[in-house]
Amino acid sequence: MSFKTALTGAGIAAVLAAGSAAMATNAPSESQQQLAAPLVAPWTGPYGGVPPFDKVKVDMLAPALEVGIARNLAEIEQIANNPAPPTFDNTIAALERSGRALSRAATVYNVYSSTMNDDAVQAVEREMEPKLAAFFDQVFQNEALFKRISAVYDARETSNLTAEQKRLAWYNYTQFVRAGAKLDPEKKKRLAAINQELATLYTTFGQNVLADENNEFVLLDKESDVDGLPASVREGEALAAESRGKKGQWAVQNTRSSVEPFLTYSNRRDLREKVWRMFVNRGDNGGKTDNNATIAQILKLRDERAKLIGYPTHAHWRLEDSMAKNPDRAMALMTAVWPAAVARVHEEVADMQAIANKEGAGIKIEPWDYRYYAEKVRKQKYDLDETEITPYMQLDNLREGMFYMAKELLGFNFKPVKEGSVPVYHPDVKVWEVTDDKGGLVGLWYFDPYARKGKRSGAWMNAYRNQERFDGDVKTIVSNNSNFVKGKAGEPTLISWTDATTLFHEFGHALHGLSSNVNYPTLSGTNVARDYVEFPSQVLEHWLATPEILNRFALNYKTGKPIPPELVAKIKKAEKFNEGFQTVEYLSSAIVDMKLHLAAAEPIDPDAFERNTLAAINMPSEIVMRHRTPQFMHIFGGDGYSAGYYSYLWSDTITADAWESFMEAGGPWDKAQAKKLKELLSKGNTVDPADAYREFRGRDPDIGALMRKRGFPEPAKATPAPSAN
Ligand SMILES: [Zn+2]
Repeated sequence: MSFKTALTGAGIAAVLAAGSAAMATNAPSESQQQLAAPLVAPWTGPYGGVPPFDKVKVDMLAPALEVGIARNLAEIEQIANNPAPPTFDNTIAALERSGRALSRAATVYNVYSSTMNDDAVQAVEREMEPKLAAFFDQVFQNEALFKRISAVYDARETSNLTAEQKRLAWYNYTQFVRAGAKLDPEKKKRLAAINQELATLYTTFGQNVLADENNEFVLLDKESDVDGLPASVREGEALAAESRGKKGQWAVQNTRSSVEPFLTYSNRRDLREKVWRMFVNRGDNGGKTDNNATIAQILKLRDERAKLIGYPTHAHWRLEDSMAKNPDRAMALMTAVWPAAVARVHEEVADMQAIANKEGAGIKIEPWDYRYYAEKVRKQKYDLDETEITPYMQLDNLREGMFYMAKELLGFNFKPVKEGSVPVYHPDVKVWEVTDDKGGLVGLWYFDPYARKGKRSGAWMNAYRNQERFDGDVKTIVSNNSNFVKGKAGEPTLISWTDATTLFHEFGHALHGLSSNVNYPTLSGTNVARDYVEFPSQVLEHWLATPEILNRFALNYKTGKPIPPELVAKIKKAEKFNEGFQTVEYLSSAIVDMKLHLAAAEPIDPDAFERNTLAAINMPSEIVMRHRTPQFMHIFGGDGYSAGYYSYLWSDTITADAWESFMEAGGPWDKAQAKKLKELLSKGNTVDPADAYREFRGRDPDIGALMRKRGFPEPAKATPAPSAN
């Protein structure tokens, strides 16, 4: 469900997206230039140009990034050393115009890194991530450039700038300061060295997790080992075993999509424990792929970096430009929700224990029992069986349901592009053109739905190109990526209810990007505060469960009949079921993330820190963190969500409140409210998100809405809700 902050866009957006050594880059050689040419050249073809996926070879990636970096550095030297006095246009807008070749190269590199990641791509990552980090520092530490940005920023109120231009000047200035532009040369050197080291550590961390996920699995060789598993789960496991040379057996792979169904359905408690232990110990197994030492090193360097730039901790540094603004406000929200979630878990465990006792299982509920008995409680309390829903969840139909939502709410029309007219990087990828009510082009949507080797797990959206208008009308190109298991030849791909929710979630990010209506790419689409960016995606999840979508698009793959209203009623009734588990699993990860990044400089033993923190907050023993520290990619695979995993809860507070606004207005399809939502989504980062939301709702979001959404009692005293200050 993650949002991929991609190194895409143009100008400073490209620089800022990945976070931030002054390592001299050598000028690319003649042969590098030749290799790079197809990936750095302006995109050609329909729709204002499209990514040249038909021309990509992996050995082009590194040269293309090198050429992109060299060109961008040359552009920046020109901007920095312009003899004319600094103006918005010759400095800030000039930065927006720069970096186009790098942005094009990085778009393709990102697609390969996240969806076609083999040994050759991993070698490119190891080579290029430190070089990219060095490049960012070279830009941020360019003194002449920072002087010009400062001059434009200082004169922002007296130089006839539009509100959007003022915000962009502020944004550039702030990001440069936050990246250490004001430091003395000695400190800048140290900062660059830290960023270098971190870039390598992040790559190591991610590759270690991936290695444990790829290499470990639990092999099941007897019929009795697969006892309780639905046919679809068995089929997936049989294919996995076959791909590992074990035809006729079954393999539970070490990924969430393989482990969770096993833990839910397997009647074999011993095997559930074995699979659970494999999964929660990713990155924590000793040996070459153990991440503990890497984590300690990352935390130490992050702490040093924050203090160097002038912040008490990494968390303070990271949250400054978020909507929460500081760690206290983020912690306050988390601690307001935590006790209610823990109390709910105790109720859930009591329900499960009762069933286990009644069955005479003679056990105490352990973490590897949670999903299994939760499923039994669900059947008992709500008479809801996940396998009853799946036949109605055809991927192709649900996709059409999303298009219906986009049309009704935002006035967008989706039409497949002519076969072969837009190049793709894999035959599974399909492309749609998006137009508005008047037939005008809005952008392109790429969809890469299926799991395959080398594709990272989970689901995400990224923008191959940002919408912009300051130098000509540029339409956005966005993509959605997921890991559904493809149906057998001639059969539809069926997905779970949770998968369908994720599908709508990621499409929500795509619609946020497509709704963008701004001038400058740095402020465009989903380039917004990290704790705000999940709001559009989370809110749009809600439309899946509307009768308008389900009756038209949730059709049984055999009979063609829509999902029965009784089943929908059961789904609705069970909506808040297991919310204790979900919230505690997530929130324990978010709290450990924040506490790790608030801890002082003392050396941290990740295992002990995790254990002690969880003990201190009374973590229920029946649940483990959704992402244990040694595999927590959000926070150690890069700077992206470090001290930022709370963002999902923050955004969900806004989400719950926004959804209630539709309910108050007359329902999900209320035209006036939809128009307001479209307006809100169109603004990108051109206004402060708290202000933009207040304009949408007439007030700040209310935490009560979040508690109601999750079925928790509302806290007695007022809790800081996401708002400005
Ligand atoms: Zn998301």
